[in-house]
Amino acid sequence: MPENFNDYLKGYQKSLKQLFQDQSFQDNTDHKRGIPSSIMDQISTLSPSSVSIPESFGGRGSHPSEILSLLECTSYESLPLSLILGINGALFLEPLAKYGHETAKEETFKKFIENHSLGGLMITEPDHGTDALAMKTSWQKSDRGYTIEGQKHWAGLSGRADYWLMTAREKKSGTELKRDIDFFICDTSDPRQYVKPVEEFSNLGLYMIPYALNQVDVEVPSHHRLVPVKSGIRLMQDLLHRSRMRFPGMASGFIHRMLDEAVKHTQERFVSGKALNSYDQVQKRLSDLQADYTIASAFCRHSAGISSIENDLSGRSLEANIHKTVLSDMMQNASQSLLQLVGAKGYKLNHIAGRSVVDSRPFQIFEGSNDVIYQQVADQFIKHMNLMKEFDLYRALNTHPLTGKIADRLRKITNLSINPNMIQRKKVELGKILGRITSLEWTLDLEIAGYDPSLIKQALDSMTERIQALLGSFHGMNQSSYIPVALNRTAAWQDTLL
Ligand SMILES: Cc1cc2nc3c(=O)[nH]c(=O)nc-3n(C[C@H](O)[C@H](O)[C@H](O)COP(=O)(O)OP(=O)(O)OC[C@H]3O[C@@H](n4cnc5c(N)ncnc54)[C@H](O)[C@@H]3O)c2cc1C
Repeated sequence: MPENFNDYLKGYQKSLKQLFQDQSFQDNTDHKRGIPSSIMDQISTLSPSSVSIPESFGGRGSHPSEILSLLECTSYESLPLSLILGINGALFLEPLAKYGHETAKEETFKKFIENHSLGGLMITEPDHGTDALAMKTSWQKSDRGYTIEGQKHWAGLSGRADYWLMTAREKKSGTELKRDIDFFICDTSDPRQYVKPVEEFSNLGLYMIPYALNQVDVEVPSHHRLVPVKSGIRLMQDLLHRSRMRFPGMASGFIHRMLDEAVKHTQERFVSGKALNSYDQVQKRLSDLQADYTIASAFCRHSAGISSIENDLSGRSLEANIHKTVLSDMMQNASQSLLQLVGAKGYKLNHIAGRSVVDSRPFQIFEGSNDVIYQQVADQFIKHMNLMKEFDLYRALNTHPLTGKIADRLRKITNLSINPNMIQRKKVELGKILGRITSLEWTLDLEIAGYDPSLIKQALDSMTERIQALLGSFHGMNQSSYIPVALNRTAAWQDTLL
């Protein structure tokens, strides 16, 4: 019988805290790239992978609430480490548990339990990021299984992961590729399956995690191909939506840390003879941070209820996309707010405020750029409006399963007509508004489940004000585009002095 999860988490938290407070650990991770093996070994002995491994293979059973709690606890101490565990769990172990061949599971999970292996996922290619479905990496059948060829870049743990989930399309004939995407396990300890990093990247943040351009020229055995239920694309949607529903764990721990750092700093720092926290603008920042921590907790609760590997999440893109976009925006805002409050001291490579700004920024880019995903959120809601033949925002919110409870509270500010044929920039704004409204629905659920009502009220008030500000911008009519400036035009201010 594995140790009770709450006891396990307490022990994990204590060990992690000690590790991250250790000066030699800080010296090794603050501004150095990669994570020294000795340190990774110490973390691995805490068996964080076990939460994403089925009980039948020696793990704790892949329970979403446990996975989210572990990520939350980790990101409070270190966002990069939490992302490593997030990649390892949501992008490798969970898809293996759900879609892997039994032989592959037996071989692979054993290595994660006994040798503390790490896994990652390779989707993105130099010419195909947002349009990943058009990837050019291809596979063909071979005597031994499958050969895979192509290039992948920006996969977290490049050159460091022991296992990869490699994505590729089947080669039909010549250079033509089939539309569907397939997933293959590469065990890098086998030279035939080794994925070679050919150019290491100097990533701006997340120093612990190596990124690179990788040359793919591998051959894997037949049982290393994942078995989709309907199609590879549906598998990919299920996998990515579940991964987006793991963002709440990383976000809540991270925002909680930003809040605690901000509270501590503003108590201790005196400016013009007064503690910083006695200034009203500082209180606004602290209150917004606290509100976002409550809302991130609401996301955790929602995700814990729906994101088990037992559930098919391929059709739940609206919820998954809201998790990803709203939380990554909140993370970036929280770090920016902390840096503002800390001032110059925070603008150091080894200060948590400065580090957090660069470490949280790519969450708005990877797993789908927020600009693109917000548009998709709006498109899906507009589909609902078309279906209901209802273009008044309040009434549409009232009939939508994700916003039915919160709609009445927002009636005054959402009484407006929506043009379903709006231009893309308006859809992005609408997506932001809808994402934040949905986050309040889940915050209400948190209240119903017994969360502190004063914290809920603070969260509702703070987010409603931000939704109002977004609605103000949504009403704007500016449609201008970039103007290519001809050489003979007066476009330099110096010319206007003549
Ligand atoms: C730190 C980090 C970690 C990553 N980890 C992984 C990983 O583990 N595995 C993996 O496979 N990949 C990973 N990636 C890659 C990531 O998923 C891609 O960067 C992402 O999908 C965007 O692709 P791209 O960078 O090629 O940008 P592009 O597709 O070139 O897009 C760039 C920008 O153009 C704009 N844009 C694009 N399309 C549209 C549109 N239709 N409408 C309006 N605007 C648009 C958006 O602003 C977008 O941000 C990671 C990236 C980073 C930075």
